[in-house]
Amino acid sequence: MAKRDYYEILGVNKSASADEIKKAYRKVAMQYHPDRNPGDKTAEEKFKEAAEAYEVLSDADKKAQYDRYGHAGVSGNGRGFSGGGMNMEDIFSQFGDIFGDDLFGSFFGGGQRRGGGGQRSRGIRGSNLRVKLKLTFEEIAKGVTKNIKVKKHVACSTCSGSGAKDKGSVQTCGTCGGSGQVRRVQNTFLGQMQTVTTCPACNGEGTTVTAKCTPCRGEGRVYGEETVSIDIPAGVQEGMQLNISGRGNAGERGGPPGDLIVLIEEEAHKDLHREGLNVAYDLHLSFTDAVFGTQIEVPTIDGRAKIKIPAGTQSGKIFRLKGKGFPAVNSYEKGDQLIYVSVWTPQHISSEEKAMLEKLSHSPNFKPQPEKGDKNFFDRIREMFS
Ligand SMILES: [Zn+2]
Ligand SMILES: [Zn+2]
Repeated sequence: MAKRDYYEILGVNKSASADEIKKAYRKVAMQYHPDRNPGDKTAEEKFKEAAEAYEVLSDADKKAQYDRYGHAGVSGNGRGFSGGGMNMEDIFSQFGDIFGDDLFGSFFGGGQRRGGGGQRSRGIRGSNLRVKLKLTFEEIAKGVTKNIKVKKHVACSTCSGSGAKDKGSVQTCGTCGGSGQVRRVQNTFLGQMQTVTTCPACNGEGTTVTAKCTPCRGEGRVYGEETVSIDIPAGVQEGMQLNISGRGNAGERGGPPGDLIVLIEEEAHKDLHREGLNVAYDLHLSFTDAVFGTQIEVPTIDGRAKIKIPAGTQSGKIFRLKGKGFPAVNSYEKGDQLIYVSVWTPQHISSEEKAMLEKLSHSPNFKPQPEKGDKNFFDRIREMFS
């Protein structure tokens, strides 16, 4: 069957504004709404046709596609189009947006049917659960899989989450006949209209439980513990959150579980600290090592590294180990390790040491001569950031 032109369906021309399109759709939707045309198949088709037209023309991208390529530009392209036309659930879920700003919304039960997927909603969704997870620098650098025990509501194994004592104690709801919805007729200025609301007797589940499962007292879940395996990507940072879908509290009576939200904390390192993606290390050199030069080992987030300290190294010198910092979580970027040198000045000395140092104190080589030696501190800083 050839599809009708979307503009023609809504009765607007191609230059209509978004507001005009919305108004036109309201008018057509009101006219062919199933509650006003019970059992009328033609009206239902027109209602669906209008919803599909509006779905496309209200979306700037889809509208542009349609204007250029016609139906071929938008068919099978996104929600609701495969298999021809939208289902009623999609249409009603639009209504919150279309009619939400006035009392029409309540007539159509706009939000009520949302999220049900066209089915009766089972149970109540479990709540999200937040846990803190402490990670070492080493774990953050490489990424890690953590198995953590989480205390939470888990599905009751006795009743498989149904909350019922046995199969025979689940009965179709008498109030709504199992549909999960009740219709009510209201008199309005537009005439009689039906509203559809969630059945109050069964909370939209369509069934009621006559005898409750004992261990969970009908809730379908019990308080327990679950070990959850969490893959932590390399490069996470303090304060980041990982959302693990469906691993939060179990829902009531078979409802979907909540999410597990993992808050990352960094465990302080004995020797190192973080400066963005860089890792910083404070190196205290003895006076003699600074004068003679030496080879030393420093800790890194990936084992120990040997570095060469050249003779005559000054306090304030910064050595850089390229690529020895943290990886970034969302890119290939990697930080460096920075080694900040300070030369250790002895604070307690013996009389013998004192005599030796006094002898040296008059030697010309012990007079500071910054212009002759290494670049000064500020030059080095400038170099680092240039
Ligand atoms: Zn149970
Ligand atoms: Zn019911």
